This record gives sequence, structure tokens and C-alpha cells, in this order.
Amino acid sequence: MDANNEPQVLSLLNRARRIFVLAGAGMSTESGIQDFRGPQGLWRTNPASQRIFDLQAYIEDPAVRLAAWEMRSSSPILAAQPNRGHQALVDLSRTGRDITIVTQNIDELQQRAGSRDVLELHGTFWQSRCLDCDDRRSIDEAITRFQSGDDDPHCFHCGGILRTDTVAFGQPLDPRVVASAMTAARTSDLALAIGTSLAVFPAAGLCDVAIQAGADLVILNGEPTGYDKQARAVLRGAIGDVLPRLVSQVEVYRPSPN
Ligand code: NAD
Ligand code: ZN
Repeated sequence: MDANNEPQVLSLLNRARRIFVLAGAGMSTESGIQDFRGPQGLWRTNPASQRIFDLQAYIEDPAVRLAAWEMRSSSPILAAQPNRGHQALVDLSRTGRDITIVTQNIDELQQRAGSRDVLELHGTFWQSRCLDCDDRRSIDEAITRFQSGDDDPHCFHCGGILRTDTVAFGQPLDPRVVASAMTAARTSDLALAIGTSLAVFPAAGLCDVAIQAGADLVILNGEPTGYDKQARAVLRGAIGDVLPRLVSQVEVYRPSPN
């Protein structure tokens, strides 16, 4: 049924001038990085790993930090490459439209594919950050220390606990990033939610911001989401199939004469 929505989505894309993309973990599963809530997601295969993303547990329990560094040092993010979905968004930006990609992903794959306007709502895996002095540096350093036998690498400057520079559960998002994401959502004429269960807030709430400002919402996801009813169109399929097919048919943007 959903393949039938593609012509409608294509015409929405052709008419759009400013596109706001809200990307989720589903964008990167085809690069070998597990999502959280999809059928093969981390919450189903390893529910105990949720503690790693709980800031209080991370601070209080060295066993949680050990599990976190084990997970990071063998993370598929370290070797992942951008996929056809990432590339399709780069190609979409070459059709002359303003595109802002607000990603919930921490893998930097969209940027590596070549996208420039990417806002990282949940931070990045690729930096460590000291919980005390905020010192940020390449994650490679901490992973190398862990792999050389330091079970719980601490900050060189102040001895504080290190994490990835990502937003843990219950932690506030960076207000400057949120403000830019809100502006992108509010000024768009088309909102595309791709590979996200739209279950994590405030990220999912950006769809409401876009709709209330008059944008059409299009959802491309492998499973239903809580926003499907509010969407102008829903596409259900694999991002790496659907997105490149659609984008290859999008016309170069020409402002209408009136
Ligand atoms: P989510 O796991 O809640 O939802 C992902 C959705 O994508 C699922 O509904 C799944 O059905 C769909 N999906 C997976 N692969 C797909 C594909 N190839 N084609 C179409 N649909 C596909 O992810 P979320 O909404 O982004 O929220 C998860 C949170 O976890 C985010 O906050 C993010 O920070 C973090 N996270 C990031 C990464 C990453 O950086 N790659 C990976 C896992 C989790
Ligand atoms: Zn420090």
C-alpha cells in the first residue's frame, strides 16, 4: 500500500523549498549500527544495556562504566560507512532546496556523507567529555586507554568521569541546538521524519512544531509511529531502497513566478 504513496511524496518534495529532516537511528541500521526500538534494536536484544544510558547509574556504578567502555570499544560506529540513505539526503540538497537535517544519531555518518547543515540533537559518539570540567577530545584516546588495560579511564585534567559527548536519559539537550532545530522546523514547508520511532522527546515534538507552522509531515519508517495519523503521507519500507528512488526523481527547484 505504501509504495502507492510515493507519487504523492514526490510531488510534495518537488513543491518544497525548505525541507526539515528529522533523522533517527533507522537511518544508520544499513551501515550496521543497531537502532534502539526497531525489531533488531538494542532494547530487544540487550535490555540490560539501558543502564549504560542512565546518567545516575553511570556515575554511581563502576560496573556500568566498564560495560559502557566495552560497548564503545567494540561499537560498530567505529568502522561504519555512510549508506545509500545518507547519500540520498546529500543528493536532495543538490536539488536547490534549503535542507536542514536534525539528527538524533551520534555516529556522524550524515556529515561524513557530505551534508553540511546537520544539527546533532543528542551529541556525538566521536568525542569524550569530562563530566566535571567538560574537557572534550577524540574518543580514540579513551578507547585506546581502555584497550591498554585502564578499565575506567578518567579525565587527564581533573580526574573526572568520562563519557561520550552524548545526551544520556534525563539529561537536557543543548539549548542552542534545540533553538536552531526549532527554527528549522518552524520555517520549513516540508518535514521529513526518517528512520525514527518518534518516541523520544523533545526530538519527536519537532514534528508538532513543523505541522503547527503549516508544514506537511512525511514519515519514512519501517514500522508505524505515533505520528502516522498527523502525517500527510507515510512510506513504509527500507530507507536505502525508498529514499534514493524518490530523490533520483526530484526536480531541481525553480521558484514559482508569482
Ligand atoms: P529508534 O530505535 O527509536 O527507532 C528507529 C526506527 O527506525 C524504528 O522504528 C525502526 O523500525 C526504523 N528502522 C530501522 N532501520 C530501518 C530501515 N533500514 N528502513 C526504515 N526504517 C528503519 O530510534 P530513534 O527514534 O532515533 O531514537 C533512538 C535514540 O537512540 C536516539 O535518541 C539516538 O540518539 C540514539 N541512537 C543512535 C544511534 C546512531 O547514532 N546510529 C543508534 C541507536 C540509537
Ligand atoms: Zn575533567
